[in-house]
Amino acid sequence: MSDIEHIGFIGIGNMGTPMAGHLARAGYDVTAYDLTPDRARRFADAHSARTTESLAELGRNADLVITMLPSGREVRHALLEAQDGALAANLRPGSFVIDMSSADPVGTRKLGEELAPRRIALVDAPVSGGVVRAKDASLAIMIGGDVAAVAAVKPVLARMGGKLFEVGSLGCGHAMKALNNFLAGTSFAAASEAVRVGRQFGLDPAVMIDVINVSTGRSFASDVVMKQHVLSGTFATGFALGLLAKDVRIAADLANQVGADAPIGALVSDLIAGARDAIGGDVDHSRAAEYWNGKG
Ligand code: NAD
Repeated sequence: MSDIEHIGFIGIGNMGTPMAGHLARAGYDVTAYDLTPDRARRFADAHSARTTESLAELGRNADLVITMLPSGREVRHALLEAQDGALAANLRPGSFVIDMSSADPVGTRKLGEELAPRRIALVDAPVSGGVVRAKDASLAIMIGGDVAAVAAVKPVLARMGGKLFEVGSLGCGHAMKALNNFLAGTSFAAASEAVRVGRQFGLDPAVMIDVINVSTGRSFASDVVMKQHVLSGTFATGFALGLLAKDVRIAADLANQVGADAPIGALVSDLIAGARDAIGGDVDHSRAAEYWNGKG
């Protein structure tokens, strides 16, 4: 274990709950905070951890704050705006913040610049692997940030992930994650479309997915999302449609920001945003296939 002992964990949702649980079990002194205090309390009861509704208290007691929130907007709010900016104001110089949410990389760089004068080091470390791999601590973690800060927080990240990648300076983790989810969203939309066309020709969707999963069209979307969640009708990946729409939008915006030609990103972002607007952002993202396919 490094010098970090006291961790404030903000965002006790689908992912944050198992991730913070690994840290508590590893012996870190974890204080949980969530906008829905019941979630933090349930977590604290289950793990003999602490909870607080005061961001000032969370900041005062933490060597490190981890955020696992819907987007960069909530991360910024929790650090600089909520409770009159109490969190950043109470973190001591030399402390660390790791944003493990999937956030907009440009916003992350701006946030890092705002925290730097207080000598609070921000690291971005978004994850991939979903709730299943969050539970067994085998997440892929994409780390961006200052080399010394990354070295200091890596032992903590290693408790939550199976594969840790240092991908560059602050914001690079978030850029990497958005581009991964652009690919995941694209293959999901494409697998849904292939099944729709095949079914209308007379193919059996279940047979199609079995063929694809041992053929060159195979992807996480065909193997896990379509096979285990769409065809079975369970729709329980634990990843909300609104979050996928946000990630693909971040990737499309990133393409614009760097001036890259990226026609697929814009197209898939609009497709997924359309499904979110029609059936809601809180539903499981696998429901988008049902929505698209229902449209015939
Ligand atoms: P979630 O909605 O289950 O959890 C988010 C939690 O944050 C909730 O408990 C919510 O009450 C809390 N919250 C929201 N705003 C807050 C605020 N301002 N202050 C404090 N708490 C606040 O979401 P999740 O599925 O756990 O995802 C979290 C992040 O991880 C997202 O950025 C998502 O894109 C990313 N992610 C999710 C998955 C997945 O499979 N679910 C996989 C990889 C990455």
